[in-house]
Amino acid sequence: MTKDGFEISRRGVLAGSAGAAAAALLASGFAPPARAAAPMMGPSRPNHYRFRLGDFEITTLWDGGTSFAGPYPVFGYDQFEEDVQELAEANFLPKSRMEISYTPVIVNTGKELILFDSGNGDIRRDVGAGRLAKGLEKAGFTPEQIDVIAITHCHPDHIGGLMENGKSIFPNARYLVGESEYAFWSDPDAGSADPPVARRAQIVQQKLVPLREKITFLKSEGEVVSGINAIPSFGHTPGHLGYHIESKGKRLLLWGDAIIHYVASLQQPEWHVSADMDKDGAAQTRKTILDMTASDRIPAIGYHMPFPAIGFVERKGEGYRWVPASYQFDL
Ligand SMILES: [Zn+2]
Repeated sequence: MTKDGFEISRRGVLAGSAGAAAAALLASGFAPPARAAAPMMGPSRPNHYRFRLGDFEITTLWDGGTSFAGPYPVFGYDQFEEDVQELAEANFLPKSRMEISYTPVIVNTGKELILFDSGNGDIRRDVGAGRLAKGLEKAGFTPEQIDVIAITHCHPDHIGGLMENGKSIFPNARYLVGESEYAFWSDPDAGSADPPVARRAQIVQQKLVPLREKITFLKSEGEVVSGINAIPSFGHTPGHLGYHIESKGKRLLLWGDAIIHYVASLQQPEWHVSADMDKDGAAQTRKTILDMTASDRIPAIGYHMPFPAIGFVERKGEGYRWVPASYQFDL
């Protein structure tokens, strides 16, 4: 039978069955019941993504996202605004509005649950972030289960979720923080000449310093647990750390804020980022981390990459391109 023949016969069947049924209903005096239109429910986004890496199980958790004017001047701080806008447009992004999302990560080694960074907590809950504590339960965890919290650096979006109202959110956890990072931010004089640094240091006093007794200080390449090591990646902050995770020969790099914008930071790694405290040092670190990730062809999780924040790095021209993971980890 030809396709057309099929179409005609299908229409015939519809006319013959549904049509006849409707006619019979009307003839019998029954109108079809009115169906309410489905209500609009507003945007909805996934809360977590879980996969295996060797013997480890890794869960990325969405702490939320906040939007603001950008990418320029936060990204391409030392460039012409038009050039940054052109890059955004070429990558199908709005020219002057952007979102940044926040993705803490839990690694279950089979022995311990390790949380990397804690989200914003109550600091940005009014603008759409700080969802980690509630989101944990949707992802199958409780705050009491977390054994270790490893911090990449002490900015508010990474430590804001450690404590609320003077109480620890994770009562059974011990903490790992870079030695030089903690030394910088916990200094009572931190930022005395720079108000934004002083504000951030104040949050460190509220959210991290009270946990001092439970903190172990990590050297640049210190071990978190067997298979997980810190990687020095200074520049964004004075003691920023990434983490290298390896199980059964499977590797992954968790790069924290060494690379922040999935387009600007990869395609133009030398462009300055206003949030980097040492702008040239951070650019150098970006290039080193991107070069390693691309050369070794290993997956990366970036705290500010689009959720679920896992992907690969491909060399492209003078820079790089973020290749989001698809089904690689689901097979
Ligand atoms: Zn950050």
